[in-house]
Amino acid sequence: MSKEKVLIVGGGFGGVKVALELCEDERFDVTLLSNHDNFRYYPTLYHVATGGKRANASIPLRSIFEGKRITLKNGEATTLDRHTKTIDTKDGEAYHYDTLVLALGVVTNYFNIPGLKELSYGVKSIADVEKLKAHLHQQMVDDHKPDLNYVIIGGGPTGIELAGALPDYLRHLMDLHGIKRRAIHIDLIEASPRLLPKLPSDTSRIVRRQLERKGVKLYLGEKVEGETANELLVSGKPIQSHTVIWTAGTTNNPFFTNNGFVMAANHKVATDIFLQAEESIFVLGDNANTPYSGLAQTAVRDGKYVADNLKRRADGKVMNSYRAHQPITIIPIGENWAAVVSGQLRFYGHLGWSLRQIADAWAFHDYEPWLQAGRQWLTYYGSEESCRTCLENVHLAHSH
Ligand SMILES: Cc1cc2nc3c(=O)[nH]c(=O)nc-3n(C[C@H](O)[C@H](O)[C@H](O)COP(=O)(O)OP(=O)(O)OC[C@H]3O[C@@H](n4cnc5c(N)ncnc54)[C@H](O)[C@@H]3O)c2cc1C
Repeated sequence: MSKEKVLIVGGGFGGVKVALELCEDERFDVTLLSNHDNFRYYPTLYHVATGGKRANASIPLRSIFEGKRITLKNGEATTLDRHTKTIDTKDGEAYHYDTLVLALGVVTNYFNIPGLKELSYGVKSIADVEKLKAHLHQQMVDDHKPDLNYVIIGGGPTGIELAGALPDYLRHLMDLHGIKRRAIHIDLIEASPRLLPKLPSDTSRIVRRQLERKGVKLYLGEKVEGETANELLVSGKPIQSHTVIWTAGTTNNPFFTNNGFVMAANHKVATDIFLQAEESIFVLGDNANTPYSGLAQTAVRDGKYVADNLKRRADGKVMNSYRAHQPITIIPIGENWAAVVSGQLRFYGHLGWSLRQIADAWAFHDYEPWLQAGRQWLTYYGSEESCRTCLENVHLAHSH
């Protein structure tokens, strides 16, 4: 009997999960096509930007699938031909499928605000965070003092985590660069009247207090209007800065509108009760219009759900309908403190921080055996700098 050709596009949380769940089942011939060689663990990217090891947020796809029955391909899917059931890539390759799984994630959206795309820093890839980290160092080398203001745009989890980690890291950088300690100014700008608009208001209040304790200045209900080389325009007033970090906007992957998918009002792909956009084309994770789309835990669950249904269908059984699960949110602010929201339950502080450490280890284990997941998790406790001045200063300090 011929095997069912499953083509998965996207080597992130959702796509890799589907691939891992299906690849050992002899009835499927699984190909994973992704435009990056690495699986990106987004939740710790902010940590890489603030001195952490890049390995903490990135796992090579080859190592995840080593020894597994799967064809890994690198390429960017551009065109879907429904008639021939083929995906074409930018490099001119074509991949045929019986069943297509699309988990392409989202892309950054600057809402056409002038200057942002060209001048701001991002935190959506290893390349982004390394560029930001290199800038934080270089600015201290060039000016021999911290920037006038470090501005983070976006009061969601990513902006908050970064704002929480930045003060300690910048103080550490001043030491590494032999700069006399002085006050640093970190501004966090959010267009809504409160932080974390999707979470309960008491959580927003407590998180706000914690950030203020760390010296972060909050601009709530303020609108970013443009960026130039030396300043950011916020609700008509300039903030001087050479370090503006954009965490505020994403939009669905353009692949879907380019290929005529039916989109919901929120720009996510409309699906049926099996996460099918069309017959035998499954869309999941950040791409699908589901209640908790936009979270890694949702993408992982979606991946498991789609794989289980494909096995049921191969068994001749009826597929199960999709049920959304509310994920637990854990937001660390600096070391040793995190806010945890799970349904009606909320708690804050060191216990939250410990839970986040467990959650990260558990999440790595979704993709690697325990031993490797443990090693991956331990990279959190290392640091990595490539700035020449720092390396020389550390070397000198050791040799005295
Ligand atoms: C900075 C940051 C921090 C986050 N922190 C958290 C957190 O703490 N907790 C949480 O639950 N969620 C968090 N999220 C959200 C979470 O990472 C996403 O919900 C999750 O990654 C979605 O999984 P996915 O499989 O849908 O997409 P992704 O994981 O983004 O994977 C998409 C994959 O598709 C590939 N791809 C894209 N286009 C193409 C193409 N045309 N052809 C081939 N391949 C393509 C991409 O390179 C990528 O490998 C965070 C996100 C960011 C950006």
